[in-house]
Parts: sequence; C-alpha cells; structure tokens
Amino acid sequence: MLAAFSYVGFQRENCTVGEDVEKLKQRLPLLDYLRQQSWTARPIAFGPEFVGLCPLHPETRPSFYVNTRKNLFYCHGCGQGGDLIRFVQLSRHLSFRQSVAYLEQQSALPTDPADVLEQTAAFYQQQLDRYPEALHYLKQRGLHDPTLIKELRIGYAPGGSLRRHLTAQGYSCDLLQRLGLLNQQGCDAFYRRVIFPCRQGGRIINLYGRSVAAAFAHQFLPGSKGGLFAWESVCQFPTVILVEGLFDLVVLWQAGFRHATCSLGTHLNAEQFQQLCDRPRTVYLTFDVDANGSGQQASQQLAQRLRARDITTRRIVLPDGHDPNSFFVQGGDAGQFQALLEAA
Ligand SMILES: [Zn+2]
Repeated sequence: MLAAFSYVGFQRENCTVGEDVEKLKQRLPLLDYLRQQSWTARPIAFGPEFVGLCPLHPETRPSFYVNTRKNLFYCHGCGQGGDLIRFVQLSRHLSFRQSVAYLEQQSALPTDPADVLEQTAAFYQQQLDRYPEALHYLKQRGLHDPTLIKELRIGYAPGGSLRRHLTAQGYSCDLLQRLGLLNQQGCDAFYRRVIFPCRQGGRIINLYGRSVAAAFAHQFLPGSKGGLFAWESVCQFPTVILVEGLFDLVVLWQAGFRHATCSLGTHLNAEQFQQLCDRPRTVYLTFDVDANGSGQQASQQLAQRLRARDITTRRIVLPDGHDPNSFFVQGGDAGQFQALLEAA
C-alpha cells in the first residue's frame, strides 16, 4: 500500500518536541481525535490502517489514511500528512504551540472553571494597554499606579475577542456559556468593561466588570462573588476599612491604606460577614452617602450586626456626599483621609 510508504517522511517532523507532546499524542490517539470530530472511516483489511474522506479538502472518494500503529495520517488527494498536532494545525489553522494547548484542553477532563477564568483574566490583562479608552477610564477613576494595576491584575474586555481566544485553546462554547463568559447568543458577555479578577485561596472565582461607557450597572459572572476582596492580604490587620466598590478600594490602596477591603456592594454575604468577625478587630465603614439613603441604612444595619459579634465599628463621614473614590479623585489626599479616620 502506497499510503504506508508515504507516512515515513512525516514521522520525525517535530523532532524537537518535548516529552509532554509525545505523552499528549499517546493520551489522545489520532484516530480517537478524528472520531471525536465525526470522521468516519473503514479499516483496511486487518492491518493498522483506516481510510475515509479527507477532512482537510473536499473530495468524494476516500483518500485520507490513518495508521494507528504509527499514529500518523496521510492524504493522497491533497498531499498533507503528519501527526495529531499537524492535523490540528491544518484543520483549525493554529500554530504548533496553539495546537498543543488546544489538545491539552481537549484531553484534560474535566475542565476546572478556575483555569478558564485564569486564562480569561490573563487575556483581558493583555488587552488593557491596547485600549486607550480603558486606561483613560482608570485614570478618570483616580487609578494611575501601574504597579497596583498589575498587582490586582486589572484587565479590559473590549468585547468580541474572548470567544475566539478561548475556543482556539480548546474550550467549548458550551462550557464558556455555562460559565457566563459568553451570552446566550454565543457572544462575549463582557463588552467594553474594565475587569477585576476576584480571587479566593489563590484561585479566581469570579470576574467583576465595570463599563467604561455609559452608566451600565456593574456585572459579575453567575455564581458567588466570593468573600471580601483581597481578604488574604487584609485579614492580618486588626483594623480594616470596609468599602462598597472596587474603585473605592483601589484609590485607598494607592494612597497607602492597604488595610481596606471591599464587599462589592452594600449587601455582605454570609461568608463576607463571617470574615469580618473572625477575630477581634475594628471595622471602619464608608458606604456611600446616596440620595435615597440606602447606603447609610445598609451601613447602620451592618454596624449593629457587627457589634452583636463584639466587633468595634466606626463610621467614616466623608464631606459633601463623597465616596472614598470621589474624595481622592477630587483632590483628597492620604493625610486628609487619615484625619477622617481619626475623627470617625
Ligand atoms: Zn486531503
């Protein structure tokens, strides 16, 4: 059989590939992969070869051969041949590295949602510097320290490019929809939003998105918002400042108040409340003074609940309806805020 002879030239094609790639090819044999992709083939006699229509070029008579012993393919119609990685490169138009990443995802089951969120956060982080609108927004909200932006892994979701990025790595649209990264129409759920990854125990458990355009409400992925923001680094302090929004937190951290944490809204979930009570401490509350008084009401109720658990509470009164973010954006400095803390 001519096909058997033709495989030879491709066998050592990627002679520099590491052991991992060899293991990957063993874990996911070429024929299994092709069958997962709905390739139908018939065995040739009782040998290790299978033949079917070529998935790489249009044809009506089968000329695509797979040798299961060598784990290689060759097509007599289009002349393409090689191993699993080569097949993925050709069929999905990916580079060698992208193909390996894609196949690693395909063969690693089940997928850990935290890994997907990790990839997503990394992608959004890469986008941040490419979009002046995002950097402009951060500046407008008073955040200008590049080290802090990196530390918090703040990113930007331009919209319309995450799906392509993640599916190229082998994540299915179905999974991405279940995680809420794609909407029901299959498009990126986050669109023109600054993104903060919310971490817990070293893993990303949610993404918080703040629109840079109109006053759209903030947006989370479905599921828990988790505990208090950056609690792992804040919990060591005997005194903490609790703020409502992440842009309140970033300006405080930037001004040196690293003992600030954020509840991502005025309502604390059970876990967040428990965290504040995990040891004797003083909690400074700075919820927004909004027109309908809901922030103040939430703040008073929280203070009562905390006092019932022997937590000392203090209310920081910011001038003229400011929240911590607007206070710093409009020229407030660390000294002035410290004075407010002392007066609380
Ligand atoms: Zn072909």
